[in-house]
Amino acid sequence: MSTGRDEIAVVGAGLAGCLLACFLARRGYRVALYERRPDPRTGRVERGRSINLALSERGLDALRRIGLDEQVMADALPMRGRMIHPVAGEPQFQSYSATGDRAINSISRGALNNALLDAATALPGVRIAFDHRLVGLDPASGEMTFETPQGKVTASAPVVLGADGAGSAVRGQLLAHGLLTESLDFLDYGYKELTIPPLGGDFALEPDALHIWPRGTSMMIALPNPDRSFTCTLFWPTHGTAAFASLGSPAAIERHFAEQYPDLIPLAPNLVDDYQHNPVGVLGTVRCAPWQANGVVGLLGDAAHAIVPFYGQGANCAFEDVVELDRCLDDCDDDWAAALPLFERRRQENVEAIAQMALANFVEMRDKVASPLFQLGRRVEHA
Ligand code: FAD
Repeated sequence: MSTGRDEIAVVGAGLAGCLLACFLARRGYRVALYERRPDPRTGRVERGRSINLALSERGLDALRRIGLDEQVMADALPMRGRMIHPVAGEPQFQSYSATGDRAINSISRGALNNALLDAATALPGVRIAFDHRLVGLDPASGEMTFETPQGKVTASAPVVLGADGAGSAVRGQLLAHGLLTESLDFLDYGYKELTIPPLGGDFALEPDALHIWPRGTSMMIALPNPDRSFTCTLFWPTHGTAAFASLGSPAAIERHFAEQYPDLIPLAPNLVDDYQHNPVGVLGTVRCAPWQANGVVGLLGDAAHAIVPFYGQGANCAFEDVVELDRCLDDCDDDWAAALPLFERRRQENVEAIAQMALANFVEMRDKVASPLFQLGRRVEHA
């Protein structure tokens, strides 16, 4: 076990970074968590950037280990199946389990991040430096350079862990030093968020389902929020005639939704404004190897293996990473030079499997869930 002397640096105070800080503090390490953004507990939420996500047992298991599961689940909304919305006709419910008692949980990403930030800061030995954007890293010495509102600052740590998301600057530094190769496969689809507000103070749609509007070349989903609104995510090609850019006027937006998503129109009064002002997010798969350098720098979560969101498993997978890294530290007596490669060996196959399943599930969700054969013959396991 650690002597408690080492201060480990974690770059990125997102979902994986905060959870990791909690696990490391529990092992007796001091942790410096560096985050490029200001403290989200005091700031504004960015418009149109995935405000909720589906948390499943894989992620809950990690939260349970630090005693945070009940707090997080108190605000979660269980989704027991899919509600398929055809262009015409009544929505059809497809249960996730034969008994109807299994569910995935819709939770607010911001609230989850804040709960993890609170948990991390409550632990002795964890300090968080907000407004610190990593821009430089020496992978041999662990010396880091950050841009802050006061200018550039440097810091160093014997171990630097990159939990800084799909566009990871830590990964970028390893790449720049010739210590890693990466492949980034972007889909020609993007996503845009739209909102269904509460209707007469209540949910406008069934709250215990993940709603899907499968339309072949496009797809929309909606997850419930604790304030009784739904966040819809529209997936559509980024280029071409049937694509986001093809709807250039309020009339064109209304016409398209009236044709493709008629039941949404009366439920989404801000549709045109949301459509015109919310950004189009990119979707892709990040693969890289190795995930560590010199036993000094390691990557985890989206920084190591971002996936497309169609299986609802990116955050769950990042949480599993933290649990596995903790297990590797156990198995290696906290020898980081042994634990980091072991972590990669143990996670690689699982992470590649979910990356491929997530891509395959896009075809299933936008197309096959609407097929009568699918509805009759197939048990649905997940989103
Ligand atoms: P992030 O959450 O991206 O956190 C990275 C952190 O690092 C951020 O706080 C960022 O500000 C910070 N950072 C970045 N660069 C720097 C830098 N240079 N210096 C310092 N800090 C930096 N997953 C699920 O499990 N279920 C779902 O239902 C689900 N739905 C999704 C829907 C959409 C539309 C999308 C896009 C993703 C979805 N995901 C879902 C995936 C999930 O959001 C990610 O897998 C998860 O957020 C990864 O966590 P992370 O901590 O690795 O990265």
